Amino acid sequence: MFNRQWIKALVGGIAIWASSNAIAIEIKGDLVQGNWVQVLAEPGSQLVFEQRKLNLDAEGRALIAFSRDAKPEKTLTLISPNGDKTEHRLTIAQRDYIVQRIDGLPAKHVTPDEATLAKIREDGRKAVEARKIELATPYFLGGFIWPAEGWITGIYGSQRILNGHPRRPHFGVDIAEATGTPIYAPADGEVTLAESMELSGNTLFIDHGYGLRSDFMHLEEILVKLGDQVKQGQQVATMGATGRATGPHLHWGMSWFDVRLDPALMFNLDRTLARGARIMNNQVVWED
Ligand SMILES: [Zn+2]
Repeated sequence: MFNRQWIKALVGGIAIWASSNAIAIEIKGDLVQGNWVQVLAEPGSQLVFEQRKLNLDAEGRALIAFSRDAKPEKTLTLISPNGDKTEHRLTIAQRDYIVQRIDGLPAKHVTPDEATLAKIREDGRKAVEARKIELATPYFLGGFIWPAEGWITGIYGSQRILNGHPRRPHFGVDIAEATGTPIYAPADGEVTLAESMELSGNTLFIDHGYGLRSDFMHLEEILVKLGDQVKQGQQVATMGATGRATGPHLHWGMSWFDVRLDPALMFNLDRTLARGARIMNNQVVWED
Protein backbone atom coordinates (compact mmCIF):
# COMPACT_ATOMS: atom_id res chain seq x y z
CA MET A 1 0.00 0.00 0.00
CA PHE A 2 1.22 3.46 -0.78
CA ASN A 3 1.99 5.34 2.32
CA ARG A 4 2.07 8.73 0.75
CA GLN A 5 2.25 11.28 3.46
CA TRP A 6 2.50 14.95 3.03
CA ILE A 7 3.94 18.16 4.20
CA LYS A 8 1.32 20.71 5.04
CA ALA A 9 2.81 23.99 4.08
CA LEU A 10 0.63 26.93 4.92
CA VAL A 11 1.43 28.68 1.69
CA GLY A 12 -1.95 30.07 0.82
CA GLY A 13 -3.43 26.71 1.71
CA ILE A 14 -1.29 24.82 -0.78
CA ALA A 15 -0.20 21.40 0.36
CA ILE A 16 3.23 20.27 -0.74
CA TRP A 17 3.59 16.55 -1.33
CA ALA A 18 6.66 14.73 -0.19
CA SER A 19 7.95 11.46 -1.56
CA SER A 20 6.30 8.17 -0.65
CA ASN A 21 7.06 6.57 2.69
CA ALA A 22 8.22 9.88 4.02
CA ILE A 23 7.67 10.64 7.66
CA ALA A 24 5.20 13.46 7.87
CA ILE A 25 6.51 16.85 8.68
CA GLU A 26 4.50 19.99 8.87
CA ILE A 27 5.80 23.37 7.82
CA LYS A 28 4.20 26.52 9.19
CA GLY A 29 5.07 29.54 7.15
CA ASP A 30 5.79 30.50 3.56
CA LEU A 31 8.69 28.85 1.72
CA VAL A 32 10.14 32.03 0.28
CA GLN A 33 13.57 33.65 0.10
CA GLY A 34 14.31 35.71 3.22
CA ASN A 35 11.70 33.96 5.38
CA TRP A 36 11.81 31.62 8.36
CA VAL A 37 9.36 28.78 9.00
CA GLN A 38 8.54 26.38 11.79
CA VAL A 39 9.04 22.70 11.12
CA LEU A 40 7.01 20.23 13.17
CA ALA A 41 7.75 16.52 13.34
CA GLU A 42 7.95 13.71 15.84
CA PRO A 43 9.66 14.89 19.05
CA GLY A 44 13.07 13.27 19.45
CA SER A 45 13.80 13.73 15.74
CA GLN A 46 16.68 15.67 14.31
CA LEU A 47 16.72 17.92 11.27
CA VAL A 48 19.63 18.61 8.98
CA PHE A 49 19.30 21.73 6.89
CA GLU A 50 22.14 23.53 5.11
CA GLN A 51 24.67 21.39 7.01
CA ARG A 52 23.17 22.54 10.30
CA LYS A 53 21.91 19.89 12.72
CA LEU A 54 18.87 20.94 14.71
CA ASN A 55 17.30 19.03 17.55
CA LEU A 56 13.53 19.28 17.67
CA ASP A 57 12.17 20.47 20.99
CA ALA A 58 9.75 18.57 23.25
CA GLU A 59 6.89 19.71 20.99
CA GLY A 60 8.73 18.46 17.91
CA ARG A 61 9.47 21.98 16.73
CA ALA A 62 12.46 23.60 15.06
CA LEU A 63 13.06 26.62 12.85
CA ILE A 64 14.70 26.80 9.46
CA ALA A 65 15.18 29.82 7.21
CA PHE A 66 16.10 30.76 3.66
CA SER A 67 18.63 33.36 2.56
CA ARG A 68 18.00 36.26 0.17
CA ASP A 69 19.39 34.21 -2.70
CA ALA A 70 18.30 30.72 -1.61
CA LYS A 71 18.08 28.33 -4.59
CA PRO A 72 14.58 27.16 -5.59
CA GLU A 73 15.23 23.61 -4.43
CA LYS A 74 16.34 22.78 -0.92
CA THR A 75 16.60 19.50 0.91
CA LEU A 76 15.47 19.07 4.48
CA THR A 77 16.65 15.83 6.06
CA LEU A 78 14.65 14.43 8.94
CA ILE A 79 16.21 11.78 11.17
CA SER A 80 13.47 10.15 13.21
CA PRO A 81 14.12 8.95 16.79
CA ASN A 82 14.72 5.39 15.48
CA GLY A 83 17.34 6.65 13.04
CA ASP A 84 15.27 6.55 9.84
CA LYS A 85 16.35 9.23 7.45
CA THR A 86 13.98 10.93 5.03
CA GLU A 87 14.74 13.70 2.63
CA HIS A 88 12.08 16.29 1.97
CA ARG A 89 12.34 18.51 -1.06
CA LEU A 90 11.34 22.09 -0.42
CA THR A 91 10.52 24.52 -3.21
CA ILE A 92 11.57 28.01 -2.24
CA ALA A 93 9.72 30.85 -3.96
CA GLN A 94 12.13 33.21 -5.69
CA ARG A 95 11.86 36.98 -5.29
CA ASP A 96 12.86 40.00 -7.32
CA TYR A 97 14.95 42.62 -5.58
CA ILE A 98 15.54 46.23 -6.50
CA VAL A 99 19.01 46.46 -8.03
CA GLN A 100 20.30 49.93 -8.81
CA ARG A 101 23.28 50.33 -11.14
CA ILE A 102 25.17 53.59 -10.84
CA ASP A 103 28.11 54.03 -13.20
CA GLY A 104 30.60 56.79 -13.84
CA LEU A 105 31.14 57.60 -10.19
CA PRO A 106 34.54 59.13 -9.50
CA ALA A 107 36.80 56.54 -7.90
CA LYS A 108 37.08 57.63 -4.31
CA HIS A 109 38.66 55.45 -1.72
CA VAL A 110 38.06 56.38 1.86
CA THR A 111 40.37 54.28 3.95
CA PRO A 112 39.59 54.40 7.64
CA ASP A 113 42.57 54.72 9.95
CA GLU A 114 44.03 51.66 11.64
CA ALA A 115 42.25 52.21 14.97
CA THR A 116 38.87 52.51 13.22
CA LEU A 117 39.55 49.38 11.16
CA ALA A 118 40.44 47.48 14.34
CA LYS A 119 37.18 48.64 15.96
CA ILE A 120 35.17 47.56 12.88
CA ARG A 121 36.79 44.10 13.00
CA GLU A 122 36.15 43.78 16.73
CA ASP A 123 32.48 44.84 16.25
CA GLY A 124 32.17 42.22 13.53
CA ARG A 125 33.52 39.47 15.78
CA LYS A 126 31.02 40.37 18.53
CA ALA A 127 28.11 40.26 16.07
CA VAL A 128 29.29 36.93 14.65
CA GLU A 129 29.42 35.44 18.16
CA ALA A 130 25.96 36.76 19.05
CA ARG A 131 24.55 35.21 15.85
CA LYS A 132 25.73 31.75 16.97
CA ILE A 133 23.47 31.83 20.03
CA GLU A 134 20.64 29.30 20.10
CA LEU A 135 18.27 30.08 22.98
CA ALA A 136 16.01 27.20 24.00
CA THR A 137 12.95 29.39 24.72
CA PRO A 138 10.54 29.77 21.77
CA TYR A 139 9.93 33.49 22.30
CA PHE A 140 8.96 33.80 18.61
CA LEU A 141 5.70 31.93 19.22
CA GLY A 142 4.05 35.10 20.53
CA GLY A 143 4.22 36.71 17.08
CA PHE A 144 5.69 40.03 16.00
CA ILE A 145 4.68 43.67 15.93
CA TRP A 146 6.35 46.59 14.13
CA PRO A 147 9.04 48.00 16.43
CA ALA A 148 8.54 51.66 15.50
CA GLU A 149 6.29 54.08 13.68
CA GLY A 150 7.61 56.02 10.71
CA TRP A 151 8.24 55.98 6.98
CA ILE A 152 9.73 53.05 5.16
CA THR A 153 12.95 54.31 3.58
CA GLY A 154 14.69 51.01 2.88
CA ILE A 155 13.64 47.45 2.19
CA TYR A 156 15.24 44.03 2.43
CA GLY A 157 17.30 42.68 -0.42
CA SER A 158 17.85 45.88 -2.39
CA GLN A 159 21.34 46.32 -3.76
CA ARG A 160 23.41 49.00 -5.42
CA ILE A 161 26.08 48.30 -8.00
CA LEU A 162 28.55 51.18 -8.05
CA ASN A 163 30.86 51.38 -11.06
CA GLY A 164 30.16 47.69 -11.64
CA HIS A 165 31.01 46.66 -8.08
CA PRO A 166 28.05 45.07 -6.28
CA ARG A 167 27.64 46.38 -2.76
CA ARG A 168 26.34 44.29 0.09
CA PRO A 169 22.55 43.95 -0.21
CA HIS A 170 20.44 45.78 2.34
CA PHE A 171 19.50 43.17 4.92
CA GLY A 172 16.70 44.86 6.80
CA VAL A 173 13.83 47.31 6.83
CA ASP A 174 14.52 50.99 7.48
CA ILE A 175 11.88 52.99 9.33
CA ALA A 176 12.52 56.75 9.53
CA GLU A 177 11.09 59.19 12.04
CA ALA A 178 12.41 61.90 14.34
CA THR A 179 15.34 61.28 16.64
CA GLY A 180 14.02 60.03 19.96
CA THR A 181 11.06 58.11 18.48
CA PRO A 182 10.43 55.11 20.75
CA ILE A 183 11.51 51.67 19.59
CA TYR A 184 9.75 48.65 21.01
CA ALA A 185 10.60 44.96 21.21
CA PRO A 186 8.79 43.34 18.24
CA ALA A 187 8.47 40.08 20.20
CA ASP A 188 9.53 38.70 23.55
CA GLY A 189 13.20 37.85 23.79
CA GLU A 190 16.56 38.30 25.46
CA VAL A 191 19.17 40.94 24.82
CA THR A 192 22.23 39.20 23.41
CA LEU A 193 24.14 42.27 22.20
CA ALA A 194 24.02 45.93 23.23
CA GLU A 195 27.05 47.82 21.94
CA SER A 196 28.24 51.03 20.43
CA MET A 197 29.63 50.04 17.03
CA GLU A 198 31.58 51.95 14.42
CA LEU A 199 29.34 51.38 11.40
CA SER A 200 25.97 50.38 12.87
CA GLY A 201 26.16 52.83 15.79
CA ASN A 202 24.31 51.85 18.93
CA THR A 203 23.33 48.29 18.13
CA LEU A 204 20.92 45.98 19.93
CA PHE A 205 20.19 42.30 19.34
CA ILE A 206 17.00 40.83 20.74
CA ASP A 207 17.08 37.07 20.51
CA HIS A 208 13.70 35.39 19.95
CA GLY A 209 14.97 31.83 20.41
CA TYR A 210 15.96 28.89 18.19
CA GLY A 211 18.51 31.02 16.33
CA LEU A 212 16.04 33.77 15.37
CA ARG A 213 16.83 37.36 16.30
CA SER A 214 16.16 41.00 15.59
CA ASP A 215 18.97 43.46 15.20
CA PHE A 216 18.43 47.18 15.63
CA MET A 217 21.00 49.67 14.40
CA HIS A 218 21.75 53.42 14.53
CA LEU A 219 19.90 53.81 17.84
CA GLU A 220 20.11 57.08 19.74
CA GLU A 221 19.92 55.36 23.11
CA ILE A 222 19.65 51.74 24.23
CA LEU A 223 17.36 51.39 27.27
CA VAL A 224 18.07 47.72 28.09
CA LYS A 225 21.26 45.83 28.81
CA LEU A 226 22.92 42.58 27.89
CA GLY A 227 21.07 39.60 29.38
CA ASP A 228 17.78 41.46 29.98
CA GLN A 229 14.55 39.66 29.17
CA VAL A 230 12.18 41.89 27.23
CA LYS A 231 8.48 41.68 26.48
CA GLN A 232 6.79 42.41 23.19
CA GLY A 233 5.88 46.11 23.09
CA GLN A 234 8.36 47.11 25.78
CA GLN A 235 10.35 50.20 24.84
CA VAL A 236 13.97 49.13 24.37
CA ALA A 237 15.57 52.10 22.60
CA THR A 238 15.09 55.43 20.89
CA MET A 239 15.63 56.18 17.22
CA GLY A 240 18.81 57.91 16.17
CA ALA A 241 21.46 58.28 13.50
CA THR A 242 24.51 56.86 15.26
CA GLY A 243 27.22 55.09 13.25
CA ARG A 244 27.17 55.41 9.48
CA ALA A 245 23.68 56.83 8.89
CA THR A 246 22.52 59.80 6.87
CA GLY A 247 19.53 60.58 9.07
CA PRO A 248 17.55 59.24 12.02
CA HIS A 249 16.01 55.87 11.27
CA LEU A 250 15.72 52.38 12.69
CA HIS A 251 17.41 49.62 10.73
CA TRP A 252 15.54 46.44 11.68
CA GLY A 253 17.34 43.36 10.52
CA MET A 254 16.48 39.78 11.35
CA SER A 255 18.57 36.68 11.14
CA TRP A 256 18.38 32.98 11.73
CA PHE A 257 21.93 32.31 12.91
CA ASP A 258 23.91 34.05 10.14
CA VAL A 259 21.14 33.84 7.50
CA ARG A 260 19.72 37.34 6.92
CA LEU A 261 15.93 37.51 6.82
CA ASP A 262 13.22 39.95 5.81
CA PRO A 263 11.17 41.18 8.80
CA ALA A 264 8.39 42.41 6.47
CA LEU A 265 7.50 38.82 5.53
CA MET A 266 6.13 38.20 9.03
CA PHE A 267 3.22 40.58 8.51
CA ASN A 268 1.42 38.83 5.64
CA LEU A 269 1.21 42.05 3.66
CA ASP A 270 -0.96 41.95 0.56
CA ARG A 271 1.83 43.63 -1.41
CA THR A 272 5.58 43.92 -1.18
CA LEU A 273 6.75 46.53 1.29
CA ALA A 274 8.09 49.58 -0.53
CA ARG A 275 9.66 52.92 0.23
CA GLY A 276 7.03 55.54 0.99
CA ALA A 277 4.78 53.23 2.96
CA ARG A 278 4.24 54.25 6.55
CA ILE A 279 4.01 52.26 9.76
CA MET A 280 1.20 53.55 12.00
CA ASN A 281 -0.63 51.75 14.80
CA ASN A 282 1.18 48.53 13.91
CA GLN A 283 -0.21 48.68 10.36
CA VAL A 284 1.34 49.43 6.99
CA VAL A 285 -0.35 52.45 5.45
CA TRP A 286 0.27 52.93 1.74
CA GLU A 287 0.60 56.44 0.40
CA ASP A 288 -1.61 55.79 -2.64
ZN1 LIG B 1 19.08 49.78 6.86
